Amino acid sequence: MSRPAALTDTLLDQLRSRVQAGDGTYTTVAVFSGGELATMPESTAGDVRTAYERAARAQHLWARQPVEARLAVFHRFHALLLKEREVLADLLQAETGKARRDAFEELSEPALVTSYYLRTAAKLLRPKKRAGLMPGAITATELRRPKGVVGIISPWNYPFALALGDLIPALVAGNGVVLKPDSQTALSPLFGADLLYRAGLPADLLQVVLGDGPTVGGAVVDTCDYVGFTGSSRTGKEIARRAGERLVGCSLELGGKNPMIVLDDADLEKTAATAVRGCFANAGQLCLSMERIYVADAIFDRFAEAFAVAAGRLRQGPGYDYAADLGSLTSQRALKTVSEHVDDARTKGATVLTGGRPRPDLGPYFYEPTVLTDVTSDMLCHKAETFGPVVALYPYRTEDEAVELANDTEYGLNASVFGRDLVRAKQVAARLRAGTVNVNDCYASAFGSTDAPMGGMGASGLGRRHGAEGLLRYTEGQAVATQRVRLLDPPSWLPYAWHSRFLAMTLRLMKKARLR
Ligand code: NDP
Repeated sequence: MSRPAALTDTLLDQLRSRVQAGDGTYTTVAVFSGGELATMPESTAGDVRTAYERAARAQHLWARQPVEARLAVFHRFHALLLKEREVLADLLQAETGKARRDAFEELSEPALVTSYYLRTAAKLLRPKKRAGLMPGAITATELRRPKGVVGIISPWNYPFALALGDLIPALVAGNGVVLKPDSQTALSPLFGADLLYRAGLPADLLQVVLGDGPTVGGAVVDTCDYVGFTGSSRTGKEIARRAGERLVGCSLELGGKNPMIVLDDADLEKTAATAVRGCFANAGQLCLSMERIYVADAIFDRFAEAFAVAAGRLRQGPGYDYAADLGSLTSQRALKTVSEHVDDARTKGATVLTGGRPRPDLGPYFYEPTVLTDVTSDMLCHKAETFGPVVALYPYRTEDEAVELANDTEYGLNASVFGRDLVRAKQVAARLRAGTVNVNDCYASAFGSTDAPMGGMGASGLGRRHGAEGLLRYTEGQAVATQRVRLLDPPSWLPYAWHSRFLAMTLRLMKKARLR
């Protein structure tokens, strides 16, 4: 169970050759077995500088190409991605331990993002006429210029989606990219880079560096012209501080403690079935997954029972096929956090409705899907992100109370509301403080709606991926205004006092005429 069939020595060599690095190496873990997966090249801060310079040279030519010519690469990439999906799923499973269905869901995100920007990028990036200061005399155009070389720092939980989904719009917008994936999960993003080069991306435009976050990731933040980061709130704050010192922009998608509200008219069976996926997809290692469920007290017991039964039925196990609903946690560190949160809750009086144990018989980092009730504010899992297959159910009396409890968090990434009356459910949704809110779903509806912005409020981050903002964040808006008739200075024979009276009259007229 160490290496999947697709990870041949030839493929591994090809992926390693895509890394900008010297002689240093490190080893990654085959998550299902805990054995060795691959020896990877390790970059230094100097390699990051070289990667940046190479990407910058390639970027100058890339930015000069018409958008349509750039998009042709992504048309071919989309086809290649779907063709190579089983190889990619093998790599993703080997380095993360996720179930194959989660791997397939993961590779859908860059496919959706690519087809969305293939449809919209030319229009979004096209120069736009803006109303000039004085119609006919002064005209204005808004241009969208690429930032230069964008640094993307991506995490281990969705290593392909969160790297490719963010770097594709950066490239489409005319930038070069230096990607620093999480050290443990470099194979799938490297495979993505390889697919892009096979699709015709110009040499050197996308650089990949690997190695320890603070050293190699830190160098990316200190070098690039913009930073796109997904990961913990702790590291996000550090990146924002360093980017701020250099006055370069950044977007940050960070943690969450996502709430779900079950209204008293919700369909219990359907809600329980959807919530199981919303809580345990990717073994709960999903920034959007639900960790708190607030249930109307009239239906609390019935919902808790239906939900615990559905969670207990999930099939968990290793394997490079579609047999399992749920895979492994990705690391010993993740297993430690999950075990600590559940043990602490149990010791302090929480009830474990189902789960609550590691499963070393399945693999070193497996942990059962776990449903808790009677969780109180002194327990670790009450407020802190568990980032694992653990969810707590809480009863509530009124809708106002449910909204208040759901919003009682420093985070604001994702939320959901379940109910049959859609008008009422949407009214509750509008009161939740979260970047995305799903009605009668947990995360896939909002995350898959790539025309709408996706990102976090509060400690969950800054900026948005998807939609217009997901592309335009990688550009600088530039206004080019042309004076056709000299208007702004008075003629030499006119005293300035008279000119200022004339200007004031003009400003009044322009307001009346709604020109400004
Ligand atoms: P980190 O924020 O530490 O890591 C995310 C990425 O940032 C990795 O590529 C990491 O590299 C890199 N990195 C780490 N430190 C720095 C730094 N100082 N400067 C630049 N880059 C850096 O997350 P963790 O992996 O430690 O996960 C911790 C917790 O964060 C999780 O348990 C979860 O709560 C949350 N998280 C949220 C995610 C989300 O999707 N929003 C994703 C992942 C984590 P490397 O790992 O190679 O050192």
